[in-house]
Amino acid sequence: MKKDKKLLKNGKRIDGRGIGDLREMEAEAGVLERADGSGYFRMGDTEAIAAVFGPRELHPKHKQKPQRGILQCRYNLAPFSVEDRKRPGPSRRAKEIGKVAEGALSSTVFLEEFPTATIDVYMEVITADAGTRCVALNAGAIALADAGIPMKGIISACAAGKIEDTPVLDLKGEEDQGGQVDLPIAMNADTGEVTLLQMDGMTNIEEMDEMLELAIKGCEKVAKKQREALMKTF
Ligand code: UDP
Repeated sequence: MKKDKKLLKNGKRIDGRGIGDLREMEAEAGVLERADGSGYFRMGDTEAIAAVFGPRELHPKHKQKPQRGILQCRYNLAPFSVEDRKRPGPSRRAKEIGKVAEGALSSTVFLEEFPTATIDVYMEVITADAGTRCVALNAGAIALADAGIPMKGIISACAAGKIEDTPVLDLKGEEDQGGQVDLPIAMNADTGEVTLLQMDGMTNIEEMDEMLELAIKGCEKVAKKQREALMKTF
C-alpha cells in the first residue's frame, strides 16, 4: 500500500465502512464430514475452517490430567491464504496464536467433565486479510459447539484498532498494515468474560477505552452470527 494513501475520508474507510462497522460476516456449522464438530467463519476477505476431535484419550498418557481434560489448539495459516505464498509448517507466530487460542477457548469449556481426555481444535486460515486469529477462534468456537462439547457460552472474537489517530472496529489488511494499533479480543458475550486481549502499537487510556468498547460491541454481533449458524444445524 502507498504510504500516503488515506485510510479514512469523511468518517468512511477504504471499503466504505463507518468506524464502528464490522466487515461482512458469514458463518456455518457442520462443514466437515470427518470431524466430531466443525465450523466456518468469514469476516470480509479473511476466512477460516475449524475441526474439533474429541473428547478422546490423551496420548502420551503422562500428559493426562486425572481431574480434568485439556484443550489443544492448532492455528495454521495455509500457504495459499496470503498474497506471497507462506512457507508451510508451524512458525513461531502460529505456535503463539495456537497457545493464546487454547487459553481463549478452554476457559469456557467444562473440562472437569473429561478427566484424562483431550479435545483438539484445528483451525485453518484459508484466506487472510487481517484478523485471522479472531476469525479462526470464531470458527473454532462454532466447531466446539457443533461437537456438542459442554460450554459456559460461545467465545466470540474481533479486533479493534487505530487508523489515522481514530479508533475503529475490525481492521482489514490495508488498515492493519497502514494503521497504528491492532487490538484483538475474545470474550463470552453473555457473561462479559474476556478470554483474550492482545495489542500491537501505541495508544493511550482514552483510545484504549474506545477501542475496547468497539471490540465488545463487535463480539456481541459475532456471537449472534455464530448462534444463527448453530441454530441452522438443529
Ligand atoms: N500475514 C501474512 N503472512 C504471515 C503472517 C501474516 O501475510 O506470515 C498477514 C495476514 O493477512 C494477516 C495479517 O498479516 O491477517 C496480520 O497478521 P497478524 O500477525 O497481525 O495477525 P492477525 O491480525 O491475522 O490475527
